[in-house]
Amino acid sequence: MGSQEVSNTDWRGKHVTVAGLGVSGIPAARVLNGLGAVVTVVTDGDDDRSRAQAAELEAQGITVRLGDGATLPGSTELIVTTPGWKPDKPLFAAAAEAGVPVWGDVELAWRLRGQDGREPAPWLAVTGTNGKTTTVRMLASILEAAGLRTAAVGNIGVSLLDTVLGDEKYDVLAVELSSYQLHWSPSLRAHSSAVLNLAPDHLDWHGSMAAYVADKGRIYEGNTVACVYNVADAVTEELVREADVEEGCRAIGFTLGTPGPSQLGVVDGILVDRAFVTNRQKQAQELAEVADVNPPAPHNIANALAAAALARAFGVAPAAVRDGLRNFRPDPHRIEHVADVAGVTYIDDSKATNTHAAEASLASYEPIVWIAGGLAKGATFDELVTGCAGRLRGVVLMGADRALIREALARHAPEVPVTDLDRTDTGAMSEAVREAARLARPGDTVLMAPACASMDMFTNYNKRGEAFADAVRALAAESA
Ligand code: ADP
Repeated sequence: MGSQEVSNTDWRGKHVTVAGLGVSGIPAARVLNGLGAVVTVVTDGDDDRSRAQAAELEAQGITVRLGDGATLPGSTELIVTTPGWKPDKPLFAAAAEAGVPVWGDVELAWRLRGQDGREPAPWLAVTGTNGKTTTVRMLASILEAAGLRTAAVGNIGVSLLDTVLGDEKYDVLAVELSSYQLHWSPSLRAHSSAVLNLAPDHLDWHGSMAAYVADKGRIYEGNTVACVYNVADAVTEELVREADVEEGCRAIGFTLGTPGPSQLGVVDGILVDRAFVTNRQKQAQELAEVADVNPPAPHNIANALAAAALARAFGVAPAAVRDGLRNFRPDPHRIEHVADVAGVTYIDDSKATNTHAAEASLASYEPIVWIAGGLAKGATFDELVTGCAGRLRGVVLMGADRALIREALARHAPEVPVTDLDRTDTGAMSEAVREAARLARPGDTVLMAPACASMDMFTNYNKRGEAFADAVRALAAESA
């Protein structure tokens, strides 16, 4: 069975191996079993939790091999893998050897669309190193404002498999895709899609920057209406040029500057469209004001333009773009305004878990007291610090890898006062906020954009953001 030969109706008796027993593996195994496939789940783990999960699946007639994620069951005709499994695993080498196709969870959902005989909803897809979730939510908000039945799904935390097999009927889906998911999605064909930006991330998984970029670029393959790229990020445009798209599919750029023909951009505080108009040489369509974007930080305006481009590619009217952007509320911990205390603004950007994300929020304020540090994941900080040095009033450092940032500050911003917190207990964030308040002057912004992952001190970035907000509120209560 080659990857092209699996139709929606011939699952009966097919031998499918599901790799991984997690949030995507278990539902995939259940669905395939329900369709009549002969399912074997293989996984590396063999702990109490996986044993309990295995028992449940086995009760439904699914075979589970615990502690053996490397061996390809002999009868396998198709592997459906958890997207996080690295491509260099022995299981995939064995699959390549045996000519067995490998699909991820997104590919499976894509193939099972229309399973119930209904016309499947087209996908508007978004990827990029940063801004995916924000852009997909903005897009869904715009599509809703246009009166379309839609949902924000995919890597955002809503299963595509559940969405395509569920009872709800959609006109169009706003789909967030990670580089892992794209790697394992050989036949996915979006209506239109966008790559927001590309900076080094997850290189240990992909093996190289080139491989990471190539996987991101898969999103454009077979698009029918528009491939949306970032004018400021030449590699995204190159990916569009390299993609094999449907006849008539257009390359559409977005820019924070004045748009050229076939671009969306900004003119005098107005988001304008020079792509989806009758005469793009002469005409520009006003979509919304910069002030309609929440928050109106430069990178977020870029996200709004990308979302607008995808919505316009789907035929959405300008007024719905404006209304959708106005209705949009950012998810927590993404440049979230917490409070103003003694004339100082406190912003929680705990989701800035890499330097590229932190760079965007550091470019949005001035002067800044920056709270940073955590797990660096192999990153270096020289470029980030060089870019923001002139905007820094002071810096408070915390977390495991804070020395890396301290050294970069010493090299590129030696005059900026730095407080180095040598504690990782639960009170550390309170002290960081107090230190920041001490360094700040009225009119300044205290920005918690750590440029690092949180797991050295917190369960996740949500908890880190909550600790920051709690500390700011305590400060506000004291100074009231
Ligand atoms: P993702 O889903 O790609 O992780 P989010 O929308 O959740 O993206 O934002 C993640 C982080 O990236 C936030 O800290 C945010 O401030 C930052 N960010 C959002 N959009 C962009 C962008 N276009 N360029 C750079 N950084 C961005």
